[in-house]
Amino acid sequence: MPFPEDLSEKANRSLARLGVQVRCSTMVKHVNEEGLTIESEAGTDSIAAKTVIWAGGITASPLGRILAGRTNAETGQGGRVRVKPDLTIPNYPDIYVVGDLASATDEKGKPLPGLAQVAMQGGQYAATAILRKGKGRRELPPFHYFDKGSLAVIGRAAAVANVFGAQLSRFLAWMVWAFIHLLYLVTFQSRVLVFIQWAIQDLTFSRGARLITGGASTDFNFTKEPSEVGAAREIKPAPVHVPR
Ligand SMILES: Cc1cc2nc3c(=O)[nH]c(=O)nc-3n(C[C@H](O)[C@H](O)[C@H](O)COP(=O)(O)OP(=O)(O)OC[C@H]3O[C@@H](n4cnc5c(N)ncnc54)[C@H](O)[C@@H]3O)c2cc1C
Repeated sequence: MPFPEDLSEKANRSLARLGVQVRCSTMVKHVNEEGLTIESEAGTDSIAAKTVIWAGGITASPLGRILAGRTNAETGQGGRVRVKPDLTIPNYPDIYVVGDLASATDEKGKPLPGLAQVAMQGGQYAATAILRKGKGRRELPPFHYFDKGSLAVIGRAAAVANVFGAQLSRFLAWMVWAFIHLLYLVTFQSRVLVFIQWAIQDLTFSRGARLITGGASTDFNFTKEPSEVGAAREIKPAPVHVPR
């Protein structure tokens, strides 16, 4: 997630306080049961580990490639379908692709990030456009993404926030993060329930249950193309809402 440099540095310091070592500009090349091999400008290095948790990775649903194949659309990074400024597939004005499945750009040609805000605003835009078409009304102007800012939670009472021009860190940013997340939950009932759950966790320092189930291969080679390594590069954790 893009953050100004000084906020990134503050986030780095908060992580260091938790004992986390951050390595930027470093690619994971190989993971096996002994640990992982990493590569950076400084060269190749290895980290011995019995447990490796892969916590990111944005690969679009295979549906993207199917859709692109049937409509001759181009795909971008991670199999995202390249869309026009109105979020439709070229030559298919009735097919809208939004969110993580879409490779869309802003007015300056900069790719839109794979974030929930982009998906939500894109969904709203497509729904409005479809309703207008149904009523025979004038088409909407191209999709414009309104960047409300970025938030990242780091731990208990630690976060960074870059919202509406204000750059916040630590407890204040964490309060903003918690407030905004509660605000975006769909019903009043779920807001109250999550608030109570968070309060109990924070007051009792309790941990929620985290289950990692199922077996997986223990040898992933990231220097090969996705098709060569099969499922290894296809893993995309579902963005489940787990309050801290
Ligand atoms: C680990 C991680 C952390 C993230 N953290 C943040 C964050 O802090 N802030 C932020 O803004 N964004 C974050 N994101 C990104 C955010 O989750 C996505 O941008 C957002 O969920 C995209 O919404 P979407 O509706 O396009 O896709 P999704 O939320 O992925 O929804 C697509 C749905 O379609 C379903 N689907 C797929 N294929 C088919 C099919 N063939 N038929 C039927 N259904 C299908 C999938 O199961 C899924 O439920 C994170 C993502 C990840 C992976």
